[in-house]
Parts: sequence; structure tokens; C-alpha cells
Amino acid sequence: METQDPAARAIRAVIAGSVQGVGLREATRRRADQLGVRGWVRNEDDGTVALHAEGPSAGIDALVAFLARGPRGAGVAELSVHDVRVEGHEQFAIRGVSAGGFVVQEHASSTRHFDLRLEVAQTMRSWAVPKGPSLDPAVKRLAVQVDDHAIEHNAFEGPTEGGGVVVWDRGAYERGGRVPWPEALDRGHAVFVLHGEKLQGGFALQRTGRAPSSQWLLLKRRDDEARPGSDVVAERPASVVSGLTLDEILQAGPPRS
Ligand code: MN
Repeated sequence: METQDPAARAIRAVIAGSVQGVGLREATRRRADQLGVRGWVRNEDDGTVALHAEGPSAGIDALVAFLARGPRGAGVAELSVHDVRVEGHEQFAIRGVSAGGFVVQEHASSTRHFDLRLEVAQTMRSWAVPKGPSLDPAVKRLAVQVDDHAIEHNAFEGPTEGGGVVVWDRGAYERGGRVPWPEALDRGHAVFVLHGEKLQGGFALQRTGRAPSSQWLLLKRRDDEARPGSDVVAERPASVVSGLTLDEILQAGPPRS
């Protein structure tokens, strides 16, 4: 990545009008890249498009002029812009779009644990979380990075030799943060938003040692989906696929061959 001068200026903007479903986010990302501007753009539920942009003043001015017109096919009715503090973004990202799937499998083998897997470049990056995820932002859960798994394994549930697996949660996830993926993972700090049946909202994985340490912490970020004081693993043990708990699968015994 090319070295950038510290961003001179940062703005937040809201664009209203006929601005969703018209290629505005992709066109804005391309223009921002041309201008050396970093940040993000996102469709909001109210039909507007929100944007954070930071970089050289001339680049910000040019991006604002671009947004005021909009790309061909967009109808910008109103553009509001105000200055905010520089956050240190290293990319211009489209936020609020799925980056792929995630799954949490509860797994009994020599130990009993949960495996959090995030789809990254056609494979599932994986962390074994002994106590499982939490929706309580005060709780930090040890997460030990383990070997990548094949995407085909995400749907596996049932008894195994000496144990078993249930699909405890699954869904799509979005990438967040100021650093592009997978570099964010390589650098040991990744922010993401889960859209599961049990797990919702922002989470972070933070490596606790220097690379290649496999020890990380999994944290729930403070947002509307946080549930302080809750224990989602205890409250909702059943598989999102079969409704069975891991105990029920283990009681059924090893697979018949
Ligand atoms: Mn496992």
C-alpha cells in the first residue's frame, strides 16, 4: 500500500434522493480511490447514503463535488456535509454488504468448545473459543486460532468418532474497521458485524500476542445488539439446523459405519 500523508481533513456526508440501487456506492469508491481519499460509504435504512471520507483537502473537495452531482443514473436531491475528526482509515470501503458466511459450531472432541469460522477468500478462518461467544461487551473470550476449514464443513452436524458437532449459529457477516481484510487479520485486529440467528451486531477479534501467536480475544462491541449480563451459550444451546443440543447428539452415540 502506498504511504499516505496524514489525512488533512475528514467529513461525514448524507446523500438523499434517488441514491440507492443506482451504483452510487461503487462509483464513489472508485472516485475516492482516484483521489487518494479513505473512509466508507453505506446505504442507510431510510433510503439515504451515508459516507465518511478523509484525506487531502483537495481530494475531499473533489469528492464532495462528485457527490453533489452523483454518478449517471443517480438523482441527488440533497447533500449535507460536516467536518469530523480523522479516524485513520487505510481503505475506502463499501459498508453494510455481506463479505460471506460465518458459522459457529459447538464441538466435542478431546475438549468441548465452540469453533467460530469466518469466510475469507474461499476458506473459513477458524478460532476455537472454549467458552463460546458472548453478547455481553464486558466479556472477553479466549479464541485460539486453528487451521482453516473448508466451506463445505460449515453445514456439518452430527456424531463423530469420539464426539460430535452442532451448528450452533450461522449467517452472513460484514467487515468493518479501518484496515482492509485479510490484512486486518494479519495485523491481529479485525472488526466485523454478524447476522446470525443468535449472534447479531459488531464483534472484534484481537490478537493478544505478537504474530504468529495463535491467542486472540473475541469481544462483543457496544451497539444496539449488545446484551449486557446475558449468557447466550447457556440460554440458547440448540442447533439452528436441527434444534438438537450437542448433549442430545452425543447421547445418540457414534456414527454407524
Ligand atoms: Mn473444533
